[in-house]
Amino acid sequence: CGIIGYTGTLQAKDVLINGLKRMEYRGYDSAGIAVQKNGALSVVHRVGKVAGLEETVASMDLEGTCGVGHTRWATHGKPTEANAHPHTSCAGDIAVVHNGIIENFASLKEELIAAGHTFTSETDTEVVAHLVEENYEGDLLAATRAAVRRLAGAYGIAVVCEQEPGVIIAARKDSPIIVGKGKTGALVASDIVALIDETRDVVVLEDDTFAKLQCKDGETTIDYYDLYGNPVEVEAIHVDWDI
Ligand code: GLU
Repeated sequence: CGIIGYTGTLQAKDVLINGLKRMEYRGYDSAGIAVQKNGALSVVHRVGKVAGLEETVASMDLEGTCGVGHTRWATHGKPTEANAHPHTSCAGDIAVVHNGIIENFASLKEELIAAGHTFTSETDTEVVAHLVEENYEGDLLAATRAAVRRLAGAYGIAVVCEQEPGVIIAARKDSPIIVGKGKTGALVASDIVALIDETRDVVVLEDDTFAKLQCKDGETTIDYYDLYGNPVEVEAIHVDWDI
């Protein structure tokens, strides 16, 4: 239901939780975040309110300046902790948050299980993490492009992986994704309200366009690509309304 991603110089958990709170008005049944520290991903999920997730996170050592978060409104699989996003690959080195419905997830799941993948949730979303893993050859953008080619249905996704610290790949089809370069880093979300504390200049991502958000040595970049990996130009819009 709600997607947020941040890579920058602040502690990601604070930006992610704040973004998830901004999107609470949409309704949801569970929430989770994945935060990267020196590459390594830590994933926390909770059924119920973002405040509950925040409480759990406060009692943990969840440092890191890059991560993704999600509030889920279950469509496939009950609202349980195991079904809450982010979902991870077998090796746990790729984490995905997703809005929407992957219509062909059952056949993809069958294919991936036959290829040796083990699933830990009942969601349609988890196939995306395994597809990215299956296609990963050292380039998260290329692996995500290859993965989404297999998807039928609606999706907004944000993906991170341990091999590429500080990188978030976002993509969409028939589900909103907004990207912006903020004061302290780059953000992606499914709703403008989740970005507004950091920036009012945002890009509304188009279908089949990919955003690569990156923060390296304190420097933030956002690049956009088409389905074939060619760079594309996008235009930002300025949001001047108040929330
Ligand atoms: N279909 C996904 C699920 O059930 C995503 C639902 C959502 O958009 O929150 O986990």
